[in-house]
Amino acid sequence: MSRTKVSRPEHVRILGRDFNVKYTALDDGMITLGLMQYNSMVINIREGQEKLEERDTFLHETIHALSDTMCLELNETQVTALAHGLIAIFEDNDPAVSKYITGTN
Ligand SMILES: [Zn+2]
Repeated sequence: MSRTKVSRPEHVRILGRDFNVKYTALDDGMITLGLMQYNSMVINIREGQEKLEERDTFLHETIHALSDTMCLELNETQVTALAHGLIAIFEDNDPAVSKYITGTN
């Protein structure tokens, strides 16, 4: 499904907490695809990923932040599965579905 070009967020608010989003290159020491640093309220996303993978990584890290904030103690497999499942709902459906979910229709 084709998507219109969207800008990458520099901030994301998660349960009342404002996280900065940084896009970091492998050359700058970012060895994982993403990293959520709860204490400093930073979500790091590695540059150079395919667009879908980058969005999946962003969602993955926001789920880590949800898990930590809500003391859910989700493990890595659960976080990964939730991110893949949620991104698939948005990717595999008409944009009207995401607009309905976000209340922007
Ligand atoms: Zn993870």
